[in-house]
Amino acid sequence: MTTITLTFDNGPDPDVTPHVLDTLRRHDLRSTFFVLGEKMRERRYLTERAHAEGHWIGNHTYNHMLPLGMSTEQGFAIAEIERTEELIGELAHPRRFFRPFGGGGALNRILLNREAFNHLCKNAYTCVLWNVVAEDWVRPETWIDRALELSFAQQHALVVLHDLPTGAMRGLDRFISVAKDRGAVFRQEFPDNCIPMERGQPGDFMESYVS
Ligand SMILES: [Zn+2]
Repeated sequence: MTTITLTFDNGPDPDVTPHVLDTLRRHDLRSTFFVLGEKMRERRYLTERAHAEGHWIGNHTYNHMLPLGMSTEQGFAIAEIERTEELIGELAHPRRFFRPFGGGGALNRILLNREAFNHLCKNAYTCVLWNVVAEDWVRPETWIDRALELSFAQQHALVVLHDLPTGAMRGLDRFISVAKDRGAVFRQEFPDNCIPMERGQPGDFMESYVS
């Protein structure tokens, strides 16, 4: 049996996030929203709504301009993380979820630099990666088939989607319905093998994401 965990990155968005929340509510599903500080600053009410409806809120950097592993500027990574965490404030999950980003969802050393790694350790963050990249932002019409295929190839799929205005989230309802019809069970909790650091404690595979 396949278990699926849904996550939504790069929001909130004034049109798409409410639609995603409505869809999840209809299916009685909880997920995690990895927000950008820059967007949340203007529209905190959307993240407050997500939190109030039982979704978890995670940090996905302030402006998502440069993967933290590619930055050599001192203080850059800490600012990207902390400016966002401050805006999230009391909406943060007690495990302090942080999701780094790379190029097109690849899992490698560009995710974090040493400064980011040390900061996440020291401040007891939980690092949340993924094992299914739906590529909804490049294939807004056809991501569903790809996401279904990749999800059912996993025991526990952790799917990255985006509450961005690409049109892709119009297909969210269909993705959930088809996955349920095929026997998938949805859970909010992440699979262990996508958590390289739990509350500041790095696991064995954490080093492969730090440059
Ligand atoms: Zn992202």
